Amino acid sequence: TCSSGDFFMDKIGFIGLGNMGRPLAERLIKKYKLYAYDLAKTNLQYFTDKGAVACSSPSEVASKVNQIFLCLPTSSIVETVVNGDNGIAISAKKGAYIIDMTTGEPEITRKISDKLKEKEINFIDAPVSGGPKGAYHGNIAIMIGGTEEQFTKIKPIMDDISSNIFYAGKIGSGHSIKAGNNLLNLICRMATFEVISLLVKDGVDPKKAVEIIQKSSGRNYAIEITLPDNILSGKMVQGFSTGLMKKDAGVATKIANSNNVDIPLGKLSQELLENTIDEFGENADMSIVALTYEKLTGAKIRP
Ligand code: NAD
Repeated sequence: TCSSGDFFMDKIGFIGLGNMGRPLAERLIKKYKLYAYDLAKTNLQYFTDKGAVACSSPSEVASKVNQIFLCLPTSSIVETVVNGDNGIAISAKKGAYIIDMTTGEPEITRKISDKLKEKEINFIDAPVSGGPKGAYHGNIAIMIGGTEEQFTKIKPIMDDISSNIFYAGKIGSGHSIKAGNNLLNLICRMATFEVISLLVKDGVDPKKAVEIIQKSSGRNYAIEITLPDNILSGKMVQGFSTGLMKKDAGVATKIANSNNVDIPLGKLSQELLENTIDEFGENADMSIVALTYEKLTGAKIRP
């Protein structure tokens, strides 16, 4: 049973069922009746096969349920899905909650939220970090921006997704922290590839270097997770595209610009990412960045 009262009932909406939305929705469908919408028919079909109701538009989703999750590529797509033709705003009821799990832009988020406030519709940001794997295991980090009252209201349903739910602060704070996190992930990843490539050039076994640095002061997410799981394993797939990383680092840059803050490491890491995108495109998996370093140094990190 749903712990959030009659208004929410045991049903939810989910729009955006791709790499990230799928494992998040997968956790919710265990407990709630799912009303789903996605432009990609195969992504929708995956859930209708599991008993979800397919809706024909975001507005139809909003006519059926009062809690709607979004996990879409960008904030401008979120804006269309909320305020565009056949958008959520057309049929959402007073008191409804739209929970935006997209890695979005704080400024757009605040704008959408302000506009919906007039209709007494709650729009809050709840981006995630930890990838499809973290969502699947129920421990993905979710950072929520909104009022404390809104946070308290949706906390029970968020607990059904993950054991790592955080209140980030006022509306947009979740998106700000997420953009900062991803820029940091990019910088650490590039720095780690640089150093491991150097060590390989010096004749070191990359597996040994990673194993030892995992217990040393240079450790970070790339050393602990990305390299062993996705690169040294030869898998070369993490389920996160170069294009999405470019977008996320770009959001952090926008935040830096609007605050007049210089981010030299951030800039350089984005230039390096651009080299990978020039060669492999924006749909390539982030693991492909390793190939750029191979080319740059002639050192092979992969098996
Ligand atoms: P994806 O491209 O795999 O999925 C996006 C989904 O949205 C697709 O199914 C697509 O058909 C659908 N979609 C696009 N426009 C739509 C529209 N107008 N109406 C309905 N559906 C629409 O991307 P993803 O990896 O799932 O990423 C989604 C969000 O999650 C992004 O903001 C991303 O930055 C963030 N994120 C991804 C990861 C990851 O590891 N993949 C991790 C953390 C956060």
